[in-house]
Amino acid sequence: MNERSSRPGRIISPDDEQLGELCEKLTALSPSLDKPGAWPQQQLQLCAQYGVFEWFVGREYGGQDWDASAIMRAYLKLSAACLTTTFVITQRTGACQRIALSEDTELKRRLLPDLACGRQFATVGISHLTTSRRHEARPVLRAEEVPTGFMLDGFSPWVTGVTFADVVVVGATLQDHRQLLLALPTTLPGVMSVESADLVGLTASRTGPLRCENVHVPGDFLLAGPVAEVMKTGAGAKTGGVQTSILALGLAASALDYLDAEALKRPELEPPTMALRREWQSLCDELFAHLDGSHDCDYQIMRTRANSHVLRATQAGLAAAKGTGYVAGHSTGRWCREALFFLVWSCPQPVLAANLCELAGISES
Ligand SMILES: Cc1cc2nc3c(=O)[nH]c(=O)nc-3n(C[C@H](O)[C@H](O)[C@H](O)COP(=O)(O)OP(=O)(O)OC[C@H]3O[C@@H](n4cnc5c(N)ncnc54)[C@H](O)[C@@H]3O)c2cc1C
Repeated sequence: MNERSSRPGRIISPDDEQLGELCEKLTALSPSLDKPGAWPQQQLQLCAQYGVFEWFVGREYGGQDWDASAIMRAYLKLSAACLTTTFVITQRTGACQRIALSEDTELKRRLLPDLACGRQFATVGISHLTTSRRHEARPVLRAEEVPTGFMLDGFSPWVTGVTFADVVVVGATLQDHRQLLLALPTTLPGVMSVESADLVGLTASRTGPLRCENVHVPGDFLLAGPVAEVMKTGAGAKTGGVQTSILALGLAASALDYLDAEALKRPELEPPTMALRREWQSLCDELFAHLDGSHDCDYQIMRTRANSHVLRATQAGLAAAKGTGYVAGHSTGRWCREALFFLVWSCPQPVLAANLCELAGISES
């Protein structure tokens, strides 16, 4: 990595011009993430230098404590610059939020300052409590309460940045079906991560399973529970929540910028480009009005609309790029692959059902 001549300033609002500077750097680096074995280390280091990780952490732990609306405005810009890096940040943030919600001040003091400045990397393995492996009779990650804490056995199927994590916020299920969340240090004996598989897109997020073979987790790593449906407690990241729609709209913005540039030379592209731009703007306006409290919206309906929009906008970009866009390495082809991610990431059943109905061309019953 090049030595920086001067340390960048910390971004203190979503309108800060330093955010534009960071986004330019992330855009320039994003093609490098298509290389085998890539991980956005340099991108995450830049984010740490610009103070991005401070946005999500309270001031008492060295953070800036941004509100949800400001974070989403920044996510919209970051995800247009580099979806993979922004997605990794959301998983890291999901872990920080769950840690911050804990009532254990000592645990927060131990973990949050290093997460706020980027010295440590945390991520989440919670999908098996919400959207993954829910049809299986036996929980995939089981917990047993012991006098000194909990024993964990099984696996968490999807953990972003699994081999890079210092801490994974994992969910597990007790035999009586109550669930708990733990801030699991990956150095504990019996915690294992395997090299992640190649994905259709976002391979550089290095998402893979985390295995736990009779892992003893001391009780002071407990974040929440044991309780029924632990993910419904607290105000942490929600399945299919606003941030998933915002990232979809960020990716769509890349494709729309490309279409805008092409339409300058090709007037026939103007009507579809303008129609997509209007739809994008109205989705953004509705989401931000919801976040600012001036308009109520059902975030699952918004997610369905954002999914539909990002699929159509990225494919419109590819259609405009023609065969050239279909050559591996062209951005429009990558955006199409990345858009497919929104069909499977954190998709609650009603969103999945609505996506399928749209694809089948039928209205929902
Ligand atoms: C790139 C990527 C990154 C991710 N990162 C994270 C992360 O960092 N943290 C996290 O917690 N989660 C993460 N997820 C998980 C994600 O949010 C979803 O939970 C996941 O995509 C659900 O897919 P699944 O195949 O596990 O679903 P499942 O529902 O387990 O489906 C698996 C298979 O089971 C079968 N099946 C499904 N339903 C049924 C049924 N009712 N009856 C019979 N068979 C059925 C199907 O054949 C299906 O292919 C990530 C996912 C991806 C793709």
